[in-house]
Amino acid sequence: MPHRQPALDLSPPVSDEVRKTTCYMCACRCGIDVHLKEGKVAYIEGNRDHPVNRGVLCAKGSAGIMQHLSPARLRAPLRRTGPRGSGQFEEITWDEALGIVAERLAGLRRTAPEKLAFFTGRDQSQSFTSWWAQAYGTPNYAAHGGFCSVNMAAAGIYTMGGAFWEFGQPDWERTRLFLIFGVAEDHDSNPIKMGLGRLKARGAKVIGVNPIRTGYNAIADEWVGITPGTDGLFILSLIHCLLKAGKIDADYLARLTDASVLLDEDPRSETHGLYLRDADGKPQVIDRRTGHLAPWDGEGVEPRLTGSLRRAGTTHRSVFHRVAEAYLDARYAPETVAATCGVTAERIRRIAAELAHAAFDQAFEVAQPWTDFRGKRHETMPGRPVSVHAMRGISAHSNGFQTCRALHVLQILLGAVETPGSFRFKPPYPKPATAHPKPHGKVRPGEPLDGPHLGFVHGPADLLVNDDGTARRIDKAFTWENPMSAHGMMHMVISNAHAGDPYPIDTLFLYMANMAWNSTMNTSAVMEMLADKDADGDYKIPFIVYSDAYSSEMVAYADIVLPDTTYLERHDCISLLDRPISEADAAADAIRWPVVEPDRDVRGFQSVLVDLGVRLGLPGFVDAEGKAVYADYADYMVNHQRRPGVGPLAGWRGEDGAAGGRGAPNPEQLEKYKENGGFWTAHIPEEAQYYKPWNRAYQDWAVEVGLFDAPQPYLFSLWCEPLRRFQAAAEGKGRHRPPEHLRAQMQATMTPLPTWYAPLGDGHADPVEYPVHALTQRPMAMYHSWGSQNAWLRQIHGRNPLYLPTALWEKYRFQEGDWACVRSPAGEITVPVAHMAALNPHTVWTWNAIGKRRGAWALDKGAPEATKGFLLNHLIHELLPERGDGLRWSNSDPITGQAAWFDLRVSIEKVRAPRHVYPDPPPQASPVPPAPARVAQKVRP
Ligand code: SF4
Repeated sequence: MPHRQPALDLSPPVSDEVRKTTCYMCACRCGIDVHLKEGKVAYIEGNRDHPVNRGVLCAKGSAGIMQHLSPARLRAPLRRTGPRGSGQFEEITWDEALGIVAERLAGLRRTAPEKLAFFTGRDQSQSFTSWWAQAYGTPNYAAHGGFCSVNMAAAGIYTMGGAFWEFGQPDWERTRLFLIFGVAEDHDSNPIKMGLGRLKARGAKVIGVNPIRTGYNAIADEWVGITPGTDGLFILSLIHCLLKAGKIDADYLARLTDASVLLDEDPRSETHGLYLRDADGKPQVIDRRTGHLAPWDGEGVEPRLTGSLRRAGTTHRSVFHRVAEAYLDARYAPETVAATCGVTAERIRRIAAELAHAAFDQAFEVAQPWTDFRGKRHETMPGRPVSVHAMRGISAHSNGFQTCRALHVLQILLGAVETPGSFRFKPPYPKPATAHPKPHGKVRPGEPLDGPHLGFVHGPADLLVNDDGTARRIDKAFTWENPMSAHGMMHMVISNAHAGDPYPIDTLFLYMANMAWNSTMNTSAVMEMLADKDADGDYKIPFIVYSDAYSSEMVAYADIVLPDTTYLERHDCISLLDRPISEADAAADAIRWPVVEPDRDVRGFQSVLVDLGVRLGLPGFVDAEGKAVYADYADYMVNHQRRPGVGPLAGWRGEDGAAGGRGAPNPEQLEKYKENGGFWTAHIPEEAQYYKPWNRAYQDWAVEVGLFDAPQPYLFSLWCEPLRRFQAAAEGKGRHRPPEHLRAQMQATMTPLPTWYAPLGDGHADPVEYPVHALTQRPMAMYHSWGSQNAWLRQIHGRNPLYLPTALWEKYRFQEGDWACVRSPAGEITVPVAHMAALNPHTVWTWNAIGKRRGAWALDKGAPEATKGFLLNHLIHELLPERGDGLRWSNSDPITGQAAWFDLRVSIEKVRAPRHVYPDPPPQASPVPPAPARVAQKVRP
């Protein structure tokens, strides 16, 4: 008798409607299909048509439903009723809340707009928030890049007009050797996972350089467990080996980089170390065809890589001479650096040889003709199948800027940027530093700021310092202490505002920046500063406004709380003006839109800023009659024009919606995005897909779609002239000079070619007393601190031990279940420990931002996040320990001001297991009710 299978429906419908939007559970911005059942979110899956993830959804992405239903969601605007930090609030109406904030800000704007400090954390609408702050007129605006990534971003842009992070990607289809440095798994995770899968399938090799072998490093073919803070030295040693072996791309260097540009070599000259320029200011090269000087971009010019010239008593030699001299030096020989890096000389040599083998022995050509900016036609595109990716692990050190630059110089010497098989930019990059604005900080009461807040300085004249040397910004960005702080320095705002240095402020306005906990260094002291009072009993930071969607630790310190929506309840714009979702082959942007309406009295923060802009009568937000220009953020997204025809969204522009990139606002634009799955793409023509900085077809296409207004080809900068200008000022050249106490450090660190110096903390903290490096990493399953309120993700990371390598585990005789007291010059913590073998032998580490303060995030008082979870932030001070010179030096990169939280050194001592971690700040009252014991949402087909 035939066996009859029962009829089973293996894919019952889980929804009666699907709405397509963009994930917000990490910075990747994957496309998602949100399934709704009877108007409620029932299920989230990946959008198979989306260019970022092609249907792939990670654990965080599918857990977005729990973020949306989180019991920690704020419910209504709040006014503080108890002392700061207590968490005691009363609910008020939006009209009351916005009335209080607008009245205060209006008064400041009339008299002293700099008394408002507006900083945003996990904000992906910076082109909008910065525009608001510029219209308001305060110089004190930035996002959180100074805490997070500015070394990487600034080094990339100053060196090659683009950076890693989400602004570039390996050529996944053609790379043969992939080198990945210091990457946490939370950023860009689906594309990297998918890309790694493609590499593995093709048999390409992956080398991971990271003190910790987790995530991508765990699946790398080779893991280099480097000592923290020495990546730059390792990279410069690879460069040493390549130069010594003659394994560099001389043609690429001569034609497409400044290696052939001539430098003034006369130490007596005011322009010593700067490019030789013609009367039009154009850098000069020697043209091989004539043997004479020529502008770098002259039609048909063929630059000579090793050019030199003696003129008017001064010798000029090409940058390449300086590169060779600097890196052939024995201080970068593998034998010299091996012990410091914790990587053997043989291994450094072998990796250098593998890089050379992939770049040159496995080189290939793509049969695609193209024309360069000098008008020369090329019949093929030569490929160099070596690509590199790096992130925060090499960035958050006090030598991070130069380390990131060193990595780019390595790529460039191999000809492995924007060539087939190598690292490729994503639009709107490439875009050189000279195409970015300079920072502005001129305050005029009642008027907008004189220009954008943040940008790229090119020398001392661009700094934001007053005639008496004091800083114009509260965070002291763009000063002699950290001149190239392109993203501002959010991590210094609270300590400077508390000290009234360089001046007191009145209102601290923060958005999604959990600065009373994990988004700050020196957490315990910052909590005290936020609640500290002066002799009159007034708070030293008089007024704090905070916007967050959830009951985070920072909420408890606000005077007024403006509750944000979840990411499924608001409009967002993932814009080409900001941080879009482009791919190397296509420009792309995306939206979020309210796929469900909020069931609480909350509003999207960007719409709240529009409302405040109207109440304050800010230019751009009101018309000549004082009427609102935009009804809300969605209206702004459609109708705002940053330049004629160019707005926040590039898709379906023009009155009929037929234009892409440039065009008049289209009232149907958001509907078009929704119909298309929430995104728009414009493919780059075949001829324009590689060699973008120098490729006429790409430059013309970029102008056509509105990325810029005229072609802007440029050369990569092995030699960083802005750095040389600061270094020269420290040598006593020019009109603007740094303070005496900074000069020696500036001369040593601001070298125009990448250098390596030991992390600055090493000269302050006693390396004998604090012999162990301590790091944090973001887990793949959580992004920032938001995951700890998410019932699904909490099951993965509800607590975090301190992981110790075998050598330290055995040295201190630890066993599973033990605890340790961990000390740094800034403080101590008591935490659980665990053993991990795949770890640099001098390094301990833990997951970032798992530890929570009791009472926050609607967690139970005894939640493991509060009793067994902890932060290393308590051990990291914004200033380095005193070393007897009468100064407190900043714990940051001296070039960009990036917080150096990976420079941390600690001592470890085994202690008896306590009941909970230390420090254990007193619990906060919760402005939201306790979470229900059980959350159930049954979806029936
Ligand atoms: S990788 Fe990031 S954006 Fe993509 S699904 Fe996961 S959490 Fe969402």
